[in-house]
Amino acid sequence: VQGPAHPETADEAKPAFQSAVLHRHLATEFFPLTRAEGNYLLLEDGRKIFDASGGAAVGCIGWGNKRVAEAVTKQVLAAPYCATIFYTTRAQEELCRTLVDSTNGHMSRAYIVNSGSEAMEAALKLARQYFLELDPPQPDRVRFISRKQSYHGITLGALAVGGHVYRRAKFEPLLMKTVSQVSPCFEYRGKKPNESDEEYVNRLSEELDAEFQRVGPETVCAFVAEPVVGAALGCVPSVRGYFKAVRAICDKYGALLILDEVMCGMGRTGTLHAWEQEGVAPDIQTIGKALGGGYQPVAGLLAGRRVIDAIEKGTSVFVHGHTYQGHPAACAAALEVQRIIQEEELLANVRNLGALLSRRLKEELGDHPNVGNIRGRGFFWGIEFVADKTTAAPFPPEAHVAMDICELGLADEYSINVYPGTGTVDGVQGDHIIISPPFNVTSSDIELI
Ligand code: PLP
Repeated sequence: VQGPAHPETADEAKPAFQSAVLHRHLATEFFPLTRAEGNYLLLEDGRKIFDASGGAAVGCIGWGNKRVAEAVTKQVLAAPYCATIFYTTRAQEELCRTLVDSTNGHMSRAYIVNSGSEAMEAALKLARQYFLELDPPQPDRVRFISRKQSYHGITLGALAVGGHVYRRAKFEPLLMKTVSQVSPCFEYRGKKPNESDEEYVNRLSEELDAEFQRVGPETVCAFVAEPVVGAALGCVPSVRGYFKAVRAICDKYGALLILDEVMCGMGRTGTLHAWEQEGVAPDIQTIGKALGGGYQPVAGLLAGRRVIDAIEKGTSVFVHGHTYQGHPAACAAALEVQRIIQEEELLANVRNLGALLSRRLKEELGDHPNVGNIRGRGFFWGIEFVADKTTAAPFPPEAHVAMDICELGLADEYSINVYPGTGTVDGVQGDHIIISPPFNVTSSDIELI
């Protein structure tokens, strides 16, 4: 590089290795990963780690799958990029058709992007645009109601609907001011002693209904929630009947229901879509992670008839778009991953061995004095650690319990990868780890976990 050196670095001797990556944690040492094979990660320092979390619930068919590699290579050689303003590819068409057909008629179009956050941004904009396409339009419907202790992505719009206190804190005031939040459905910490599921659902419904009334029901565009809360709470499903009640309130006020299945969807909880287990369908759902199983950056949204019909009858344009939307290689990877899941009947494995994982986690850890709660569905399990089991008092954030457990897991003695949670419980960090193995693990893998 021509020109003078930066004055601060000119005379300093360069250290042997200094990362140029803007890592999340600048003071932490990161372990170079050299290979990922089957369900193991091989590190440059020789360690071989069993991947019990598939990254952050991303890996679902294991690593190094040749079929997916071949599908991606074939697509890259045939047409590596597609400018989606004029063109489409068979890979994109087939992937979207497969996704739409998997919803039993509830969804009518799919939209493919690169990350879960982008999928959420697209979902929020599609919901807003929907109300403008109606005849007559409803331009006042600009508000979103979401839930505390949820996570919907890292971009500013997704962060604004999210309730992840730690990830929002430094960016307040957030750009989107049209969001308000209600309590999540969180049995372990939210349900009162002796309260039945029905009473708990009624209490949460009243809170949501009151929030619609407070902000003005005619100003609400959508209610946004994760069917099983991932990163912010650690695999928390709702109690039976909760989503039916939520759907009824949205319908009563004419608002849309957006379900964020980026983490809990695409088979992670034992059905392809987590909402199938709730007996309701959303108007828009986001997907990601297990969609492409980590082989390419790929996520997306599915939109129901009501939304698509309005846009088709209206301007017929979704005013949104990314340079890399519907990326051919990403679509080819996702399509192959989904074919493998279907051909190998991996969701049956998630359901069967999910029951074993649940039982074994509870048997081994349920009585531990610092394990407060073990919850989840399928291959999506969270373990919450507490300082006091009787009062459920959390550890202080500076104790870093979840992170320490994850780091300990990487030591030679255990060699297992689990994922730390960074949720918050009433503003205090709640320590949990996430166990989300690939869909093809065996019962002996479950024993190892
Ligand atoms: N929504 C949920 C439920 C998530 O768990 C995540 C990521 O963890 C996102 C959205 C954002 O996805 P991405 O990290 O791919 O942008």
